[in-house]
Amino acid sequence: MTTVVDTEFPAPAGVRSGAFGNATHLICRACGATSPLGPFYACMECFGPLEVGYAYPTVTRAQIEAGPKSIWRYQPLLPVPADIATFRSTDPGFTRLVDARQLADELGLKQLWVKDDSGNPTHSFKDRVVAVALSAARELGLQVLACPSTGNLANAVAAAAARAGIRSVVFIPSDLEPQKITASAIYDTTLIAIEGNYDDVNKLASEIAGEEEGWAFVNVNVRPYYAEGSKTLAFEIAEQLGWRLPDQIVVPVASGSQLTKIDKGIGELIKLGLVEDKPVKIFGAQATGCSPVAQAYRAGHDVVAPVKPSTIAKSLAIGNPADGPYVLDAVRRTGGVVADVGDDVVVDNIRRLARTEGIFAETAGGVTIGVTAKLIADGVLDPAAETVVINSGEGLKTLDAVSGLVGPRVTLPPHYDAFTDFWTTNA
Ligand SMILES: *Cc1c(COP(=O)(O)O)cnc(C)c1O
Ligand SMILES: [Zn+2]
Repeated sequence: MTTVVDTEFPAPAGVRSGAFGNATHLICRACGATSPLGPFYACMECFGPLEVGYAYPTVTRAQIEAGPKSIWRYQPLLPVPADIATFRSTDPGFTRLVDARQLADELGLKQLWVKDDSGNPTHSFKDRVVAVALSAARELGLQVLACPSTGNLANAVAAAAARAGIRSVVFIPSDLEPQKITASAIYDTTLIAIEGNYDDVNKLASEIAGEEEGWAFVNVNVRPYYAEGSKTLAFEIAEQLGWRLPDQIVVPVASGSQLTKIDKGIGELIKLGLVEDKPVKIFGAQATGCSPVAQAYRAGHDVVAPVKPSTIAKSLAIGNPADGPYVLDAVRRTGGVVADVGDDVVVDNIRRLARTEGIFAETAGGVTIGVTAKLIADGVLDPAAETVVINSGEGLKTLDAVSGLVGPRVTLPPHYDAFTDFWTTNA
């Protein structure tokens, strides 16, 4: 089977055999046209987005369980070589799945899990996608790792390039959170701030990607490979539940890549017999100030009209989401919805997750918890169904969202009397 597909899609010149593991070709999500594995991201027939296709191998639970405690345990289902664990990557993934009992009680849910991706090497889910993009860049002979970023991607690209010993160039909107700017610059990347929003930065990056030879813009010209990294969220959730699927998953939506690939990952687990087939409803979460996909969902549209973002959830502030239509597709097919909450609700829910579970999420986490609470209140999420919510990033990166709202209860002189005076009246 592999031989047949290999003949049909010969590897591009200069790419070693096995460079992409069991991946065999790229396929257009719009028209289904296929092309060989290479630095391609738009269909030659219709300019639609390309996705990685595989000659799926037989994979057993035991094989996966014997692998490294990182996303590389799922190597047979990723476009990376079999020896990927020997390369210098940040080895992301295998983050904790937290049994969120107190939050479940507060929300009236029977069983709630928080998939806490703040535990990744640069504290967001972006390390997963960057690790796979880096492997593709290396195999394709591209020498510079680059990206336009809303913040977390900048951190992940800069760190992954530092660890791999290659050059990185990172483009960010100049008004990004100071924590995210510092947490990128520290890796000695070439950090370039652009006077504009993410969509402006993204457009510029596409122009540069078209001109500069040898650059791998992780979310532009190697995007098909990058996107595959998000499948590992679905793989880990299933494995951590004891090779079972939950009933419903709530996923943050920026470009929509994470949500669509979680859906693809679930499909692959079922197809390969790694989990029992069952319906999983997928829900998308956005901030009202940048909710083009939620608006399209409500209007019953298949296409997403771009918006100008204005929200504290900057990591989700993509006004023109590349995978928007595919999010609508996945959500409608599985029986979910896309919904949004305002910035005040985002802040309340960052505090709620911290207070109930001891997890400090960034604004994106406030969005997913906030949307979860809203959908329960509206009777859309089933409170009796087993639910997983993704926390995709770390609260220390978006301190401004909450720093004015929490702080010391009191400031006292260092004397026991002062403490007892305070305690007797305030305990
Ligand atoms: C990038 C990002 C997402 C989702 O991004 P997609 O573009 O939809 O894949 C979610 N949460 C955080 C914190 C992110 O940085
Ligand atoms: Zn096409």
